[in-house]
Amino acid sequence: MSLQPLFARRTRRMKASEIRELLKLLGQPDIISFAGGIPDPAHFPRAAFAQAMARATEAQAAGVALQYSTSEGYTPLRDWIADYMARHGVPCTRDNILITAGSQQALDYLGKIFLDPGDTALVTWPTYMGALGAFNAYEPRYDRIDPQANRPVEEIAAEAEAAGGRVKFAYLSSDFANPTGVTLTEDQRRSVIARAEALGCAVIEDAAYQELRYRGEAVKPILALEIGAKGTIEDCRTIYLGSFSKTLAPGLRVGWVVAAKPVISQLVLTKQAADLQTATINQIAVAEVAREVFDSHVAELREVYGARLNAMLAALERHMPPEIDWTRPDGGMFVWLTLPAEMDGAELLKRALEAKVAFVPGGAFYADGSRANTLRLNFSMSGPGRIEEGVARLGQVIRAAM
Ligand code: PMP
Repeated sequence: MSLQPLFARRTRRMKASEIRELLKLLGQPDIISFAGGIPDPAHFPRAAFAQAMARATEAQAAGVALQYSTSEGYTPLRDWIADYMARHGVPCTRDNILITAGSQQALDYLGKIFLDPGDTALVTWPTYMGALGAFNAYEPRYDRIDPQANRPVEEIAAEAEAAGGRVKFAYLSSDFANPTGVTLTEDQRRSVIARAEALGCAVIEDAAYQELRYRGEAVKPILALEIGAKGTIEDCRTIYLGSFSKTLAPGLRVGWVVAAKPVISQLVLTKQAADLQTATINQIAVAEVAREVFDSHVAELREVYGARLNAMLAALERHMPPEIDWTRPDGGMFVWLTLPAEMDGAELLKRALEAKVAFVPGGAFYADGSRANTLRLNFSMSGPGRIEEGVARLGQVIRAAM
């Protein structure tokens, strides 16, 4: 007997992520993998976490750390985040902040509170596939918002209405986007706010990679620019998503949302119903470790990953045929390659695996599955030597396939 026919309609768009399936194949040490999207575990602030966890489980402290706590999140952590946001041009109070189990959970909750089936979610082409995965459960329609390709908003709104819903939000990564590594300029950020204003929709700003800048000047978050224009966060349509996954460690599952209070209140109700709260002890540990080592640890990551990005860009110059195009990010974890139009990233992966090098084919990052002639390369997991060797292998595979 199968229970599958009983599954709700929303499950139909849940499919196994190509990346997860692929990661299973990558145990072999002779494969050089650019397929992951994860931080290098050699650079977790392990000692700081060990101490923080030990302190949190001492007799007195354990009564708090091992106990239930509030849905909003651990107050000292929200206060640290309020200071952090202020340093990035986002004045707010702890009441504008909700702690989530990673920013992935925030994406799910935002889908839940904004999307009725048939509503339109605007995303970039390509976008973070985990966001599509989170939103899919709420059965939206997707349309394209690309800061550099300004389609008339009237057209976007009319198509959303014709599809039986309305545009609820635009989801974008402001810095070093997954998968492209591209950062929005300040003008593009202002244009996103103006276009959202014209559409009457929210902006979801995914800032997961904000701290991983290896060169150039930081650009203010979209939320900071909007507060600058409106005077207070309470008048803002931007919802900012932060995460400790790329700066401290993803296994703790601690991220946060910053938004106007009514949005936070609705998210708190959502969290109460879904999982009550983010793990108390993890929030306490993250608060302590952030207080102690955030800046110095991020400085270390910038040095390590910055060298890897440079190694990858230099290797691409050396080994790619002239027909291949790629992004030149200033930070993050990814470089995005565009192959000649007739080539297919998924097909290329099969050949690449034979040559013992792996990447993620780009098609899955498009809400409409288009643009199969792309691929994502991660550089955070390999040292410069392996990056050079892996890109050399990839260059050979691409030449052979062309
Ligand atoms: N947003 C982006 C753009 C990401 O790349 C990721 C993780 N790969 C996430 C959100 C989710 O991160 P987390 O839930 O660990 O905070």
